[in-house]
Amino acid sequence: MPDLHQENKVFILTAIHNIFLGLLDILYPRHCFACDRSLHEEENSYICENCLEKIKESEVRRCAKCGFGLGPGTISSDKGCPECENTNLRFEKSFFVSDNKGPLKNLIHQFKYHKHVCLIKPLGDLLIGFLQQDIITEIDVVVPVPLHWKKKKERGFNQSELMAKKICKKLSLPISINNLRRVKNTSSQTLLSRLQRQKNVNGAFKVKNPETFLKKNVLLVDDVLTTGITASECARTLKNAGAKEVYLLALARSRL
Ligand SMILES: [Zn+2]
Ligand SMILES: [Zn+2]
Repeated sequence: MPDLHQENKVFILTAIHNIFLGLLDILYPRHCFACDRSLHEEENSYICENCLEKIKESEVRRCAKCGFGLGPGTISSDKGCPECENTNLRFEKSFFVSDNKGPLKNLIHQFKYHKHVCLIKPLGDLLIGFLQQDIITEIDVVVPVPLHWKKKKERGFNQSELMAKKICKKLSLPISINNLRRVKNTSSQTLLSRLQRQKNVNGAFKVKNPETFLKKNVLLVDDVLTTGITASECARTLKNAGAKEVYLLALARSRL
């Protein structure tokens, strides 16, 4: 026999909760962080269904190593695709939510530069959805691509660290923070050529306690990958410290 008193209580509390949310919506109308359209009651608090669909639909067939979209008929192997096989990327596999365009690009911009760290929730959920199930079981430890401490202080947070924490919490995986360190405060890579970028990040990372990574499979977490040189240098440093395999998970794949 259901407890009617209890049911009434739940009903009243739910009603109060809905009235409260309705009032909040009137006072502070919620908008999609990607397209600025006002959000309906049934949608989540950050992104509209339309933008979410667009991000999920933009999934393409990618090179398992570098993550670039593969044209029709293009084949990729463990060594990579025609675009990356000569670039010596030091991670084994990479996973991305989408190319760096449309709603996802807007969300990343809002997250990184407008400091809307609340976006870590939808972005974290998206990231996990794009990680291959059989890879999850292989991961021993998750490592965010580190920022130099000066840059972290300037921004107030490391976006990759927030994402890594979210992933670890959801998947119950161990995280390693402040062990892989960025010891060189490199200037912005945006205007540099591939060769200049490589020179810029050479020796930029160091591992403090190598035993953490000894014979371990590492999942490296980054926000946007352009040449892959920074992530590759992280992977090289982790492998020099004894790591077995390094996989990469990032929000977006971009081109120079
Ligand atoms: Zn939207
Ligand atoms: Zn490739």
